[in-house]
Amino acid sequence: MSNYDSIIVGAGFAGAVVARELAEHGGEQVLVLDSRDHIGGNCYDVADEHGILIHQYGPHIFHTNIERVYTYLSRFTEWFDYQHEVVARVGDKEIPVPFNLNTLEQVFGEEAPELEKLLIDKFGEGARVPILTLREAEDDRLKKIADYVYENIFLKYTMKQWGKTPEEIDPAVSGRVPVVLSRDNRYFGDTYQGMPKHGYTELFEKLLDHPGIRLKLGTDARDLLEFSPGSQTPVHWKGEAFTGKVVFTGAIDELFECRFGRLPYRSLRFDFEHVDEEMFQSHGVVNYTVSEDFTRITEFKYLTDEWDKNGTTIVREYPFAYSGAAGEIPYYAINNPENDALYEKYRVLAEDCGLTLIGRLAEYKYYNIDAIVDRALTVAEDLMDD
Ligand code: FAD
Ligand code: UDP
Repeated sequence: MSNYDSIIVGAGFAGAVVARELAEHGGEQVLVLDSRDHIGGNCYDVADEHGILIHQYGPHIFHTNIERVYTYLSRFTEWFDYQHEVVARVGDKEIPVPFNLNTLEQVFGEEAPELEKLLIDKFGEGARVPILTLREAEDDRLKKIADYVYENIFLKYTMKQWGKTPEEIDPAVSGRVPVVLSRDNRYFGDTYQGMPKHGYTELFEKLLDHPGIRLKLGTDARDLLEFSPGSQTPVHWKGEAFTGKVVFTGAIDELFECRFGRLPYRSLRFDFEHVDEEMFQSHGVVNYTVSEDFTRITEFKYLTDEWDKNGTTIVREYPFAYSGAAGEIPYYAINNPENDALYEKYRVLAEDCGLTLIGRLAEYKYYNIDAIVDRALTVAEDLMDD
């Protein structure tokens, strides 16, 4: 019989926050497992061989309007006040993304004041208009703006990222980057944004540093846990019935040997390059919205404020369809009615085993960091009430 009250699979934000709460406020003995050899999940950062702090699984910028999330994480880190700005490279120009009134002026020149008035009359000052909504406009001049934004910002980038057009994917995805009727060039409009001053990994070290938490890295839960849905003792830990809580934050189809078929995900190949220059590009992230096979280039020094370091490290992101092959990582759920219905079958199976599912993979949802931390706080409260 195990001595643990709870077993948590995954040391990303979902798993780490639930673990901390159960240990600190529930007085529990918690075991956290992760198959990777490090904590932090996809938010893990580490110095590369040139001493530059990189995000191994792609750029992660913290932003939120949820005060309790900001307050909670501030217990474990100070912040570098980074306001993220992105430009799209279109031909030889770089234009602010999300497309906003500054972009309008840059692209439409003399015509911009008239177009700006039209947009504001229709949607209101400060509005955040999804491109698919703007495309429904009937006025020819609004249509012209919508066509420009669609052709030059969304179509090719979305084809690369998802292998589909913006119409073919969940509208909430392109809606994440609306047309913004203001002169704010920031990528996110949230009240709080910034980067952990000493990196995400240090934040996670503090989050998981509690006497009630034991961490076991390099351990795939599937090697130690067995599940028999619907049985009286549905969870076995190292061959013995386990009656404590099990929180799972990984890919739910893979936990159940993909028995109903694989859930589709998009994956990414990250190509890192160290450049012997102080600065490589004009912004932390440059999106390639009409050319190239990669979607974006990130230069980490902008995000981490390491301008005192020599040289700079960049990463290019190449999306592809996740196949489940060894070494591939599922990053993005592909939400549509068919895939969501398949997910539901796995969710029911997990429910029959008494598992708590939380996280981007386990819930098959497009969560940002703040949403997952908020959810983890709620899930932990519910688990402690039970
Ligand atoms: P993860 O971080 O994926 O953690 C899950 C962990 O579970 C992993 O460490 C995995 O190894 C482990 N695991 C899975 N299966 C098993 C198993 N069988 N046994 C043991 N361990 C297992 N959000 C933002 O707010 N801002 C951003 O700028 C941002 N940028 C992003 C960029 C990219 C390229 C991606 C893919 C995501 C980005 N996100 C961003 C989202 C952010 O990564 C997630 O919200 C967050 O990482 C979710 O945490 P999680 O704990 O659910 O999942
Ligand atoms: N998108 C786009 N062009 C851009 C930026 C975003 O077409 O320049 C679309 C694309 O479909 C992308 C989605 O908007 O997948 C959400 O973008 P976001 O930056 O939120 O993606 P993430 O950082 O989560 O990969």
